[in-house]
Amino acid sequence: MKRVILFGAPGAGKGTQADMLEEKYGYKKISTGDLIRAEVAAKTHVGLEVKAIMEAGELVPDKTIIEILKKRLNQNDIVRANGYIMDGFPRTRPQAEELSRMEVDHEMAIYLNIVDEDVVVKRLMSRLTCSNCGAIFNVENNPPQKAGQCDFCAGPLRQRADDNEETIRKRIRVYRQQTQPVIDYYREKGLLHEIDASGSVEDIGEKLGQVMR
Ligand code: ADP
Ligand code: ZN
Repeated sequence: MKRVILFGAPGAGKGTQADMLEEKYGYKKISTGDLIRAEVAAKTHVGLEVKAIMEAGELVPDKTIIEILKKRLNQNDIVRANGYIMDGFPRTRPQAEELSRMEVDHEMAIYLNIVDEDVVVKRLMSRLTCSNCGAIFNVENNPPQKAGQCDFCAGPLRQRADDNEETIRKRIRVYRQQTQPVIDYYREKGLLHEIDASGSVEDIGEKLGQVMR
């Protein structure tokens, strides 16, 4: 079992690139953001508890997210896969420590780095997400073939509740404070590959491909 961890600020392109890696290598993508949004949409006990936190751009409690992740990791499609890609986890030091207790044969971490904050704010403001299958588009640089409609499942495209400027800036602050130290932790362990993620989707995909070889 191989584990690929994608790091990067909100808007760095983790979700988009994880989708591509899933298709190219057959590894399963695990997005903790998607898992949380599914709980919120289904109005589960946990979903009701974390809705406001998520919409404010803050992190849900470690205990909650770890529980949700463990449940997902135990599902058959993951257990049987050659590997999985983490999009959005770990985001705090305790999460990283928890993950390192779940051992795998191979592990690598890839940091999609963007220096200019305005680039990610712009990307997130123009992001559209399929409310049916979760596919990600961007009106500016990765538009769907038909406006407002998912290329893959024809589901309706929506703007995420937390993709407004105020919440985006908040998420970036939280990322700097809580997640940057986690990236340093993987760098110190010698597991980190760094990529400049300011270019196009294809451009970043190309660089990722080189790192994955
Ligand atoms: P982005 O990376 O674009 O900010 P995500 O879809 O990865 O968005 O996550 C959306 C929200 O879900 C986060 O702002 C946070 O509230 C919650 N979330 C996702 N992953 C985690 C995590 N590992 N720990 C705590 N909260 C999380
Ligand atoms: Zn779709």
